Amino acid sequence: MGQQHTLASQVSLSGIGLHTGVTVNLRLCPAPVHTGIVFKRTDLDGFSIEAQSRHVARVSYATSLMKKGVLISTTEHLLSALAGLGVDNAIVEIDNLELPIVDGSALPFVKLIRQAGLRPQRARRAYAKILKPLEVSEGAKRIAVYPSDSFMVSYSIAFPHPVIGAQSLDFTPRGGSYENEVAPARTFGFLAEVEMLLKSGLVKGGSLENVVVLDQERVMNPEGLRFPDEFCRHKILDLIGDISLLGHPLIGHVVADRAGHAMHAQLVSQLLRQKDCCAFTTNPPVRSNTSIPATELAVASA
Ligand SMILES: [Zn+2]
Repeated sequence: MGQQHTLASQVSLSGIGLHTGVTVNLRLCPAPVHTGIVFKRTDLDGFSIEAQSRHVARVSYATSLMKKGVLISTTEHLLSALAGLGVDNAIVEIDNLELPIVDGSALPFVKLIRQAGLRPQRARRAYAKILKPLEVSEGAKRIAVYPSDSFMVSYSIAFPHPVIGAQSLDFTPRGGSYENEVAPARTFGFLAEVEMLLKSGLVKGGSLENVVVLDQERVMNPEGLRFPDEFCRHKILDLIGDISLLGHPLIGHVVADRAGHAMHAQLVSQLLRQKDCCAFTTNPPVRSNTSIPATELAVASA
């Protein structure tokens, strides 16, 4: 408990980028202690971008990282899976600018990480423990973090749509809860918005295989929803990925209301700026079980 973890082996996956529609090959590799998560563009001589808040470039429909003009786009679902399973150190190699969207959720990445297995390392994990509340708001949108003994998320969304409406969910990671309750939730969009994005050259790789699309009354995907509140669960998935850009697992209670990538990113940058709000500690959270023990992963992937 409290040790850093990396992957036990290399694993790879191919797919298309949601916005570019281009095929990309992804490989996850083990990394030494204190590496964190580092992306490598193998098509650009292995140019590296650390998964850190200071490299956040653009946050609208996805969270992209940029360093010296080099972009890596749609990082949040993979980052969510890595954080959700307690991977501290890994190299993420990709040969294009956008990560594969796969099925629009983090589940394919969770399966990939399980296939690799986890390996404990000889260094303690440093957590970012919240000492005092911090809030960011923008009109009706709000995100805040409060001191707590473990990591928790309370997320609320409200869309004037018959299938969504008001949804809220509290999530505390324990055991396999991240992979069962959060990771399978897919990204979603409204038909009118998707058509507009297509016209402006975005979501070229988007289809009913990787986005839950809603027309005015219903879900257009023939298989329907994976959870009645899949939308709210996906927001939690995104949040977990976005706040991992803090560089350390958080010990605190995040409360978000109608937030999104931009506000998640603002919370992280405010936390790093307002140094009295959090402290780094190697003491693990009191009640939480944020990562799945390596032994459990090894059995599951066997
Ligand atoms: Zn997402």
